[in-house]
Amino acid sequence: MANTLYVVPTPIGNLDDITLRALRVLRQVSLIAAEDTRTTRILLDHFDIKTPLTSYHQHNERLKLDAIFDALAMGDVALVSDAGTPGISDPGAALIAAAVARSVRVEALPGACAAITALAASGLPTDGFVFVGFLPKKDRALRTALAGLARQPRTLIFYESPNRLTDTLAALIEALGDRRVCVGRELTKLHEEYVRGTARQVLAQFQAHEPRGEIVIIVEGAPPEQTAQWDAEQVLAALQTRLDAGDPLSTAAKTVAAASGWDRKAVYALAVEKLR
Ligand code: SAM
Repeated sequence: MANTLYVVPTPIGNLDDITLRALRVLRQVSLIAAEDTRTTRILLDHFDIKTPLTSYHQHNERLKLDAIFDALAMGDVALVSDAGTPGISDPGAALIAAAVARSVRVEALPGACAAITALAASGLPTDGFVFVGFLPKKDRALRTALAGLARQPRTLIFYESPNRLTDTLAALIEALGDRRVCVGRELTKLHEEYVRGTARQVLAQFQAHEPRGEIVIIVEGAPPEQTAQWDAEQVLAALQTRLDAGDPLSTAAKTVAAASGWDRKAVYALAVEKLR
């Protein structure tokens, strides 16, 4: 039978969250491709697994592909990341895509993922959701990303670092409004915490108590009136009308933002891009 690339989730904190099948696969494969061999070595030592390890991370992804496909010609390979599911805001997606393109058998094991863990406990709708992962760090790119999500009716899932959490919550409030939010912190670990409330309440809590550890932010999707927000063409037409009426651009952008549900800076950026 053809050899298999196994995508193997590992715990996001609590070592008991590894599955029996994951342990069996990690023991049976001929090679484990790991994001960081030192991190995975600790996990393997804990479970007394002796399988050889090689590193596979975003900086050597291309270089490593050939070596991993050579290994796959000889036997099964398991792909793991430092924590959670490989390929989910972690290295691995390129290897999996390349394996699929080469008709290599790919099997993913179900297992730990911070996004799904936080979503499941959030109390927010789970029937449809959008996994965003990490938002851009630069202000303009961040605003553009959030403006693009403002009309999204599904629950939103973000990964964030503790030192950016309050800034990100403030940006979320500005772009999306004061929606219901759940911040999951240190999930499955000793200091696990869920902070639920409106975005303003959650922001106030983390302004009072500086957040530490690993964080997932779950945000309620756009309410119906926000999903009916204007598209870019409508915004541009309204802007043109205001400019023709003699409004300066900043005033026109403010007016149109209020009417359209768009963020004022996003309207301004669109005007600068399309009307000048
Ligand atoms: N592949 C991983 C997964 O399946 O969840 C995610 C890897 S990503 C590089 C790391 C981010 O996931 C962290 O910055 C944090 O946002 C989130 N994360 C990972 N473990 C977490 C935990 N125990 N509690 C809360 N968030 C966590």
